[in-house]
Amino acid sequence: MSTAEAGQTEVEVVIVGAGMAGTTLATVLGQAGRKVALIDPHRVHHDEFRAEKIGMDQMLLFEKLGLDATVKRLVTSTTDTHVFRLGQLFAHEKKSEFTFSYGALINGLRDALPPQVPLTVGKVTEISTGPDRQRLVLADGSVISARLLVVATGHGEAVRRAVGVERVEQSKAHSLSMGFDLAISPREFAYQSATCYGRRAADRVAYISIFPLGNKMRANMFVYRTVAEPWTRAFRQDPQKMLCELMPEIAALCGNFEVASPVEIRQVSLNTTQGHRRDGVVFIGDAFCTTCPTPGVGIGRVMTDVDQLHSVHIPRWLETPGMAADKINAFYDDPVKVATDEDGMRVSYYAKSITIETGLEWRVRRLRNNTARRLMIIGRKMRHLGQRQAPVANMQ
Ligand SMILES: Cc1cc2nc3c(=O)[nH]c(=O)nc-3n(C[C@H](O)[C@H](O)[C@H](O)COP(=O)(O)OP(=O)(O)OC[C@H]3O[C@@H](n4cnc5c(N)ncnc54)[C@H](O)[C@@H]3O)c2cc1C
Repeated sequence: MSTAEAGQTEVEVVIVGAGMAGTTLATVLGQAGRKVALIDPHRVHHDEFRAEKIGMDQMLLFEKLGLDATVKRLVTSTTDTHVFRLGQLFAHEKKSEFTFSYGALINGLRDALPPQVPLTVGKVTEISTGPDRQRLVLADGSVISARLLVVATGHGEAVRRAVGVERVEQSKAHSLSMGFDLAISPREFAYQSATCYGRRAADRVAYISIFPLGNKMRANMFVYRTVAEPWTRAFRQDPQKMLCELMPEIAALCGNFEVASPVEIRQVSLNTTQGHRRDGVVFIGDAFCTTCPTPGVGIGRVMTDVDQLHSVHIPRWLETPGMAADKINAFYDDPVKVATDEDGMRVSYYAKSITIETGLEWRVRRLRNNTARRLMIIGRKMRHLGQRQAPVANMQ
């Protein structure tokens, strides 16, 4: 990865924030021959607990953008998952998934930036936006002038505030994500990966996902609780004891949940943005809206923003003079983007309600779903039994 010289720079697109959204957009625009600047305060993305797994749907988005070869070098691939529901083995799913540590993935994507798109390491101190040109001043005095400003700063608030755009909290402390390493190795683990859903609404557990990440077994657990409550403190202090109580059915498969790292905990709120329809600037990824990690739709949403901007909107916007709000609005009104964001929000609320809501409607839905699942488990067991008894029956 090369870094840019301080001074005066003129580009077509300046992207602030070199996380998943910013780095991938800079790469595809650079590869398409656009003049792009990418700015982030940190040369190396720190190793924080974020997304650690994507499915084939998201990998196909990377493939569409020509980034799949880079991404595949940075991930561990899995092909099958054993799913536990209601305390029993429910399904053996043959599906491709890809696991990674977020910091390493972003740093790998940054290393693959085209040479003509260097990462500018710096802090933005001044921003002025308008219908023709956007002007950014960095802490070292250098100035970047661009036709379009893309804000991809994730949860960062400084740029959003400087532009005058508001974050709206739709569901505060919606869920809690927890990540930790298990002491058991991938070779000792009974399956390649496993997902175990919570058994009782009162436990407030959506599910735990256990998967190989390089040479260790990693666990991501999603619960509907807050950081401050005693349950969370107790979990942090003795995760093994609490996991063995919550999920005795898979404890033995996991080396009785012996944990080999501190428990990383992230509270997640669902947020949207207000006042973003303005000249010269577009908000993307988590800087525009955040969904819940439980249904695992965040990266799909981020990459849909990148794809639609790169393949549809930015080429059109740069074709004609000016960058007024009416151009930018076409992105916020893009039916593909709108449907992806709305779906992300819908599944974020649904996953919580179906797990913990105690109103009649949700109790009936849980009963209906669990009855269907119990019947499937019984059907599978009977088929198994029938197959085992068949040779005996033939002999009689
Ligand atoms: C705990 C957790 C688990 C998750 N699990 C999943 C999952 O399993 N599946 C899934 O699909 N999604 C998951 N997500 C969501 C997913 O991680 C995010 O949607 C995605 O990473 C957002 O990417 P982004 O580029 O918008 O933001 P980020 O990747 O956060 O990038 C923001 C960048 O902006 C930079 N920045 C911040 N402030 C400034 C500033 N002032 N100036 C310049 N740069 C700045 C930062 O340094 C950073 O590089 C999870 C999220 C969390 C929190």
